[in-house]
Amino acid sequence: MTKTKTKTNELVFLPLGGSNEIGMNLNAYGFGPDGDKKWIVVDVGVTFAGEEGIPGVDLILPDPEFLETNKDDILAIVLTHAHEDHIGAMGWLWPRFPAPVYATPFTAHLLRDKLRERGIERKVPLHEVPLKHRFQIGPFDIEYVTLTHSIAEPNGLAIHTPLGTVMHTGDWKIDIDPLIGEQTDTARIRQIGDDGVLAMICDSTNVFSEGEAGSEAGVRDGLFEAIAEQKGKVAVACFASNVARILSTVEAATAAGRSVSLIGRSMLRITGAAKAVGLLQEATFIEPEMARHLPDDKVLYLCTGSQGEPRAALARIAEGSHPFVTLGRGDTCLFSSREIPGNERAILELQNKLAMRGVEIITGKDRHIHVSGHPCRDELRAMYEMVRPQIAIPTHGEQRHLMEHAKFALSLQVPEALAVKNGDMIRLAPGPAAVIDEVPNGRLLVDGDAIISSDSETIRDRIRLGEHGYVMVSIAMDAKGRIKAGPDVRARGLSERNGAPAEGRLEQLADAAEEAFNRLKPDQRMDEETAEGYVMRAVRKACDRIFGKRPIVDVVVMTI
Ligand SMILES: [Zn+2]
Ligand SMILES: [Zn+2]
Repeated sequence: MTKTKTKTNELVFLPLGGSNEIGMNLNAYGFGPDGDKKWIVVDVGVTFAGEEGIPGVDLILPDPEFLETNKDDILAIVLTHAHEDHIGAMGWLWPRFPAPVYATPFTAHLLRDKLRERGIERKVPLHEVPLKHRFQIGPFDIEYVTLTHSIAEPNGLAIHTPLGTVMHTGDWKIDIDPLIGEQTDTARIRQIGDDGVLAMICDSTNVFSEGEAGSEAGVRDGLFEAIAEQKGKVAVACFASNVARILSTVEAATAAGRSVSLIGRSMLRITGAAKAVGLLQEATFIEPEMARHLPDDKVLYLCTGSQGEPRAALARIAEGSHPFVTLGRGDTCLFSSREIPGNERAILELQNKLAMRGVEIITGKDRHIHVSGHPCRDELRAMYEMVRPQIAIPTHGEQRHLMEHAKFALSLQVPEALAVKNGDMIRLAPGPAAVIDEVPNGRLLVDGDAIISSDSETIRDRIRLGEHGYVMVSIAMDAKGRIKAGPDVRARGLSERNGAPAEGRLEQLADAAEEAFNRLKPDQRMDEETAEGYVMRAVRKACDRIFGKRPIVDVVVMTI
């Protein structure tokens, strides 16, 4: 790839996460001559490791190396909405490229929780701005545009620059009756389109789905019907951040004479945030300790854990280990949520556990109790007709989504459409649009309290420990290199035989260690590191021969 050197100003778009995957959105826009650009960052999200099989790792972050390198030139971090895949990495990554942060009230509220958890709330200059706010920062004139999605306060951004306007949609759909918040600001979007839009960076999640995503109002009706029919206890699992869905559930419960109890930490945290910004004002909730004394047909539990997360409330209910909530025969659990790709197996397992208890499961496949928050093809078409960009750059999708979306945009008479990937630096102006550079990109893993690289030895060791087990050999020798004690062999995770922990086979490992040690010349034995390495290789070979496994082998040679 050739990097074009230029002294004139250019406008570039740089996706660092969320382009060729759904999750961990991290985008940047740069303005200025080559090598001297000012940047704004749009969204700093996470991906959940889910079923990716990285032992001990729950959270995956986009690698911000490029932003760290250019941190002095980052003017602002602008957040579109409060979903985890858009703000979830802020607490972890902000210290690496500290810049002032802009967010609307609901997003700001939830962001503060995240920053507090990482102990950096006081350090981050957070500007809480009203909906439709417009502000200038360096060469960027940034305007929040009200959209509809599956969360309170979803925003697109119109980024006006001397080289043209970019419409960065964030996550959206066109919901004509979103129940909470305003409708999609089509008047303003059309106006921005009339004034001329250089490029649109747009949500691709549902590009393979015909028609429209559907309205929250339709789901409300579905929930009213489904909840009214129930006789036993009802649990509803959904994302707490879908405040409209929470409101619909509360109203449906009230209409059916049920009191609502919130189950799960994020349910309490996010409904608290919604109330703080003036949403869900009328909703009242009862404590789970109280709810359990109510008759079955008078209670409804709103639960976290719709994705089968093992530590969430619903998983504990399914296992019968929740301190206040029990579900059984005659009770119903409604899944008012989508299955995030990668979580299917965990969700099925959860639903099976509930079914084993006699709980009836109702999902969006059975009843109209869920709609997607992302645009289907009719909505995409409507958005392109309003915005009429010169360039379409699909984002928020896997590669096949991005390619299909680019093709679709071309079919809608957009002159240029590019399917790009994380790390591609795309020049938007002066045109034509082109990938002019590739910058470092990738994934980082949150391991306990640390951020580690995705190819770290820690993870390789942990996978090997999980698959092959662990052997430790210790040998004590005297000053002349003669064995005084051992080899003593301990093993973990190696298979038992006839109920005994592979005793005889461990002795064979000890023999292999001793033979190897004795093969060394005395001066080699005195060099503990050489001796340890040699014995380790011999024991490894023996493990493969005796157990058919390749465990991690540690050897300690001590002089006594
Ligand atoms: Zn998203
Ligand atoms: Zn979203």
